[in-house]
Amino acid sequence: QLIRFSSSFSSKDLKIQLTTSPKSKPVLNEKLLFGTALTDHLLEINWTETDGWDIPHIEPYHNFMIDPAASVLHYGTECFEGLKAYRTAKNNILLFRPEMNMARFKKSAAAVALPDFNSEELLKCIDELVKIEESWIPNKVGYSLYIRPTFFGNHAGLGVSKPREAKLFTVCSTVGPYFPEGFKPIHLYCDDTIARAFPGGSGDKKIGANYAPGIGHTAKLQSKGFNQILWLCNSYVSEAGTMNFFVYWKNAQGENELATCELDGTILPGVTRDSILALTREWDEFKITEKKFTIHELCNALDNGRVIEAFGAGTACIVSPVSKITFKDKEYKVPLALGNAGELTKRLQDEILRIQYGEISHKFQHLV
Ligand code: PMP
Repeated sequence: QLIRFSSSFSSKDLKIQLTTSPKSKPVLNEKLLFGTALTDHLLEINWTETDGWDIPHIEPYHNFMIDPAASVLHYGTECFEGLKAYRTAKNNILLFRPEMNMARFKKSAAAVALPDFNSEELLKCIDELVKIEESWIPNKVGYSLYIRPTFFGNHAGLGVSKPREAKLFTVCSTVGPYFPEGFKPIHLYCDDTIARAFPGGSGDKKIGANYAPGIGHTAKLQSKGFNQILWLCNSYVSEAGTMNFFVYWKNAQGENELATCELDGTILPGVTRDSILALTREWDEFKITEKKFTIHELCNALDNGRVIEAFGAGTACIVSPVSKITFKDKEYKVPLALGNAGELTKRLQDEILRIQYGEISHKFQHLV
């Protein structure tokens, strides 16, 4: 009897079926809504407890059939990733540190009891998908192909249990610059009565369950004119919306310091966060600290004029300058030395863009 059980899929087995009816490409302007210009194909890999991983397929974009009792629909057995492919001036396609996204994806999967896989093999399958969708990657700085690996439990059964069947898939979407008109500084609202994560929880995993509860809170404050929530964990400053938060300030010792929350299990270990820490450590021009600091320390520094700039960091925008923070009905202004951003914020944006679009060669680049 043939034993099919496999502990991972392999990119060597990839079966490719190309579409016979390609979609029209989006118009590249500021009206292009994030994640709506979905491409022609998807990557799909199925798993069952009894047989292990099936072979990977790239197929024309299609709907999935899901049993109404599927695990993901009831207990949120789901995780995802977000990374981008960029076209360089020399017409190469680059991914930015995709190994980090793959490693995080495995950890997120484990956190919602989804099975393990070989992340190098997944990256090879994603590379193939990106090659097939190459024509969806614009030849225009600021534009890129957003890649969304997703994994969910789909066995039918209402008992709360480990998924016995699962589907890993990846879709892609042409996306534009986060700020088509240049930086648009954001106003953060901080509310110490809500939290997105807590010690011992799963805030460091990219699972849908971490996002759903924040959507309503965010929509509510956006209707009042704020942009994002400045999340606290107890009174420690943790993240800005779905970005890691950085402050560049004169610390209590009077030193220039770039500070961000440490990886204590309550914040997502952002690829952008890690890249900013790596780049600024290479520059070696000021102190760089991963540590916990409270909203009271931050407000005190804002009151005393010690904050030089603050920004959020994530794949979608790279960096997002913060202009104001509102906490307990008090509005604090954050300096923007360049008018729409701080100098460090702008420098980081420029430097990371140069790496992503291959203007300089760098170890963070992954050639597709
Ligand atoms: N925090 C949260 C909660 C996020 O969803 C994201 C976006 N993935 C980030 C931070 C930034 O992570 P990255 O730099 O890997 O995009």
